[in-house]
Amino acid sequence: MSKTDIKSMTLNELRESFNEIGLQRFRAEQVYSWLHKNGVYSFEEMTNISKDMRSMLDEKFEIYNCTIEKKLVSEYDNTVKYLFKLNDGEFIESVLMKYKYGYTICVSTQVGCKMGCAFCASTLGGYCRNLKASEILSQIHAAQRDCDIRISHIVLMGMGEPLDNYEQVMRFLELVTDDKGLNISMRHISLSTCGLVPKIYDLLDKHLQLTLSVSLHAPNDEIRNKIMPVNKRWNVNELLTACREYTKRTSRRISFEYAMISGVNDTDECAKELAAKLKGMLCHVNLIPANEVSENDFSRSTKKRVEAFASILQKRGITTTVRRSLGSDINASCGQLRRSHKAEKEG
Ligand code: SAH
Repeated sequence: MSKTDIKSMTLNELRESFNEIGLQRFRAEQVYSWLHKNGVYSFEEMTNISKDMRSMLDEKFEIYNCTIEKKLVSEYDNTVKYLFKLNDGEFIESVLMKYKYGYTICVSTQVGCKMGCAFCASTLGGYCRNLKASEILSQIHAAQRDCDIRISHIVLMGMGEPLDNYEQVMRFLELVTDDKGLNISMRHISLSTCGLVPKIYDLLDKHLQLTLSVSLHAPNDEIRNKIMPVNKRWNVNELLTACREYTKRTSRRISFEYAMISGVNDTDECAKELAAKLKGMLCHVNLIPANEVSENDFSRSTKKRVEAFASILQKRGITTTVRRSLGSDINASCGQLRRSHKAEKEG
């Protein structure tokens, strides 16, 4: 019989489960705290629990961990990129960044990705599987333990499409914001999607205080179809309608991600079209000079082009920022490390 994934359980679920196996209620709270607050890797580390009980737990439950396979530290800004190994031997990536206000981690939500965005490295090896809530949490635990720090902000912008792993991502959000666990504020969490429209409506109904980021990357279907296959399923108009609805009903500002790719989506016309389509929406645009990936021919827009694009948006009343690129010497954008590691092993 396969063991139960204990770190994906809520405290109430753990209490019920412990009740069924005859353990007292307070044991569930102890174990939950070890798992979530302390981020322990094994039952062995739970020192206020007897040896017998620990081995009983070990027989019934499994703790899904992330162990460090590779770690790269940027010489410029101390950004840390991890290649983590999961219990089943798969690899995922996370990035730890230090800002003035604290530490932010960028976590993965799937092993690989099926969305197929043309410029993205995460999608190159195809899709392998969804992460469990516990495996998303474990990325935070592993980074905190490694660097001996507390993480205050989370972005779900690593490998994978979070809304394509909706159930486990929602469970992760419930666990990570729990005051008996890591207790990270929902306001400090951003979730990024390439635009799974029905799931945006589902998320809307939950009225969470998180920030929704939408990877738009193009102002119209002609360009977006070429670089993001998801657009053929839900087009720009359907996506922006969902976004407008989201901002209206939640009063939360949406952040549009726009990777600037030279000659593809970075002309003045694109900026004007984008400004017209976002007019009046509670949103801001985050321009990101595209990270170049060796497997495709895309190159990043020049600094001058990015500035001109930003200025057109700003003149038309769209709040725009140009994202500072951290960890540029360690390929901090996701997917690249897992891919090169796989190639090394198979090569
Ligand atoms: N699947 C989600 C989250 C993961 S990707 C999404 O699509 O939003 C996180 C962000 O990085 C997305 O905005 C994605 O489009 C962007 N991205 C991927 N590859 C990139 C590259 N080579 N250069 C710049 N941004 C990239």
